[in-house]
Amino acid sequence: MVSALVNYYIDVNIALLATFGVWITVRFGLSRIGYRFSFQSEQNLIIAFIGLAVLAPVLVRVGSGLLPAHANVTDLLVSWYLGGGVDMSARQFQSLIGAKGAAVDELIHRDSWVTLLGLGLGAAAFGFFVARLGANAVSLHSILNNSFPLKKLGRVQVVASDRVEVPFTTRGWRSFYVVMPVAMIGDAWKMRIAIAHEMQHIRHGDVTWEYVWSLVHPLMFWNPAFSMFRKRLNVLRELLCDAALLSRQTFNKRRYCETLLSVAKNMAQTKARNNALAVPFVEPKRHLARRGQSSLEYRILYALELPSARKSLRFGHIGLMLTMSLAAMLILLLLQQPSEWSHDRIMLSTIANLEHLESLNSSSK
Ligand SMILES: [Zn+2]
Repeated sequence: MVSALVNYYIDVNIALLATFGVWITVRFGLSRIGYRFSFQSEQNLIIAFIGLAVLAPVLVRVGSGLLPAHANVTDLLVSWYLGGGVDMSARQFQSLIGAKGAAVDELIHRDSWVTLLGLGLGAAAFGFFVARLGANAVSLHSILNNSFPLKKLGRVQVVASDRVEVPFTTRGWRSFYVVMPVAMIGDAWKMRIAIAHEMQHIRHGDVTWEYVWSLVHPLMFWNPAFSMFRKRLNVLRELLCDAALLSRQTFNKRRYCETLLSVAKNMAQTKARNNALAVPFVEPKRHLARRGQSSLEYRILYALELPSARKSLRFGHIGLMLTMSLAAMLILLLLQQPSEWSHDRIMLSTIANLEHLESLNSSSK
């Protein structure tokens, strides 16, 4: 049972890193030829990739007949080694390809203090992130409790609070809450834009997804693929939300961008808080992003040139399907169990045994 869980966890993480690699490569390739995913296809693709990673262990079981028996990373490495491609002793190489199995064993039996230390640190970090999530939930709860209702739109309650500087949305079990800063109430236009923006997030399911990622985060915090995917999803949800609103004729682009800027300006003056479990109008910290161009700047530029920004490839189905199959193949290749006694494996273990004998002989002389 424990061993199955440890195996599952490791496999999911490997699969996530693999899909991340596919995503980065395909994105880079596309940008090289002057294209990119349309934002909607990219969002779908990333969510599908994460789903693929979660189901990877099942996928490997179901799909084991799809690839030839030797198409797994261990057998490929072994035949590469026997072909002279790696300069390493056979015994070292054997322990390298057995590394994953050894890691699972070590995690289950916890013999060495290094493993204990690593597990301890991991558990401490997990505890920290769970506690932070709890603190976030408590602070959201207290903001909602101390706010006053403005209006109710179906399952959505719009409230005002004097404790926030940036409008955001969160959800309860059944209902959603759009929280507006009190300072914004005087400005009818800004209010209208910010509420419409947050309603669009709710319609698009962004708040629920934010909950999912926030809850999964403590388990996956150390996996760079998870954080990068999440970061990208956050940028995409804003771009998609802006695009959906600006495509309605009722919204004036200039006013929309001014609202974005003024909210970001208010936020820059206050301490950025960690906003798990909520979807804000403007992301904290992100208005000073990498390489000179912030994503706020990007959002505004994108909003302004929306009609001309058509160089995105609407991959439709075929391109997405190709990318998905590529990722699935890679997962199969990485996770498929090697046949323990293939011809090449026997050869490798023979060489390793001979090496061992030789070293015993030379030390006894
Ligand atoms: Zn937003």
